[in-house]
Amino acid sequence: MNHSLACECKSVQGYIKPGGSCSRVLCYCKDCQAFAYYLQANDRVLNVQGGTHLVQLSPHRVVFTTGQEHLAAIRLRSDGLLRWYTQCCNSPVGNTLASSSIAFIGLVDNILTPAAIPKDFPGKMAVVHTDSAQGSPKPKSKGFPATMWRAATIVAKARWSGNYKKNPFFEQNGEPVVQPQILSPEQRASLLPYR
Ligand SMILES: [Zn+2]
Ligand SMILES: [Zn+2]
Repeated sequence: MNHSLACECKSVQGYIKPGGSCSRVLCYCKDCQAFAYYLQANDRVLNVQGGTHLVQLSPHRVVFTTGQEHLAAIRLRSDGLLRWYTQCCNSPVGNTLASSSIAFIGLVDNILTPAAIPKDFPGKMAVVHTDSAQGSPKPKSKGFPATMWRAATIVAKARWSGNYKKNPFFEQNGEPVVQPQILSPEQRASLLPYR
């Protein structure tokens, strides 16, 4: 069954097609935290220690049915991940690599249907980059190697099958559907985890 997705104001809607590997990840890295602060969505996105819940899968499974024109992206540094969000209501969408040939997205749980996540994206949740968690004691890290392995599998399968060419975040020529804004070092330094 399809898994519905929507931004907070519902201007952007769509779904995730079933099938294929996925990973659930709770990421405490500074960049995920900075992204939430950039969107002023930290209260909605981050848990008490600054963690972001993500579902990683192949982007060919992501379908937007309405509001795709609201998509925008930033990069926290010139070689950083593309961090996608919706301009209508500053909802985080997820992060991709800069190249569509490596087909992979980590969708932030906020854009998904939280109640249906355990059923539609089963599996143990990995907890990663716990050194950057706020406060102490730090959460216990788990599942990182399995998550890396699954990420490699997702990318390889999308490549073999040609599904990497179906990616709602990139044009056929490999360019992102909107040019990401690259934050200056000063802009990045103004965001809480880097302050
Ligand atoms: Zn919206
Ligand atoms: Zn992260």
